Amino acid sequence: MFIDTHAHIQMPEFDADRDEVLARAKAAGIGLMITVGFHLEASRQAVEAAQRYPQVYASVGVHPHDAKHYDNRADETLRDLSKSQKVVAIGEAGLDFYRDRSPRPAQTEAFRRQIRLAKERDLPLIVHDRDAHPETLQLLMEEQAEAVVLHCFSGDLAMAEEAWARGYYTSIAGPVTYPRNEALREVVRKARVDRLVLETDCPYLPPQAFRGQRNEPGHILHTAHEVARLLGMPLDEVGRITTENARRLFRLSL
Ligand SMILES: [Zn+2]
Repeated sequence: MFIDTHAHIQMPEFDADRDEVLARAKAAGIGLMITVGFHLEASRQAVEAAQRYPQVYASVGVHPHDAKHYDNRADETLRDLSKSQKVVAIGEAGLDFYRDRSPRPAQTEAFRRQIRLAKERDLPLIVHDRDAHPETLQLLMEEQAEAVVLHCFSGDLAMAEEAWARGYYTSIAGPVTYPRNEALREVVRKARVDRLVLETDCPYLPPQAFRGQRNEPGHILHTAHEVARLLGMPLDEVGRITTENARRLFRLSL
């Protein structure tokens, strides 16, 4: 069995066939998934999806793209949402210096406040970091973040080792199957297996076999196969270990 630790099945991309997508995921062995908020409305929808589907859990947060809208009211709304049943994390929150859709000082502030909220609520934090590796590690350190997963990990081995040393988890997504992503494969080969979890980030980032198409939770098997090959481990062992890690991190009971 597998857990998709980062999906966005609440998005309109799945409105036409969400039940079928979830049925395919179940048939593929994806026992549970976490659907992740990226602004207030998407966080509300994530909570609704979790209330509707037994195998779906939710995370609530504001992505760095929307950081410019992160005010006291947003902080309060997230706090309220985080108290809903089946919310298991805060995020995705972090820094995106690739697209810079919010000014960097606003990204930093929204990230700090969500790190604090995660600690206050005693929930793990799902971190988005794109082209902001040193700044992300620095802020997590300054705010003394506790339970952390670096989602769709894109750093190098040195960064991964720093993250593992701090007790953070690294989440591996479809890009590990991309021909040019040797750097990520190197991270997986040397990984601390007790700090690895898997995700799809669907509808984004399909594995190589589905490039150009909508991604969905069932496709996590392609990522898992590649991780198994890199670790020299049977697929079901990868499933067992990453499921155990996700259960520990998000405190999921099965
Ligand atoms: Zn995401």
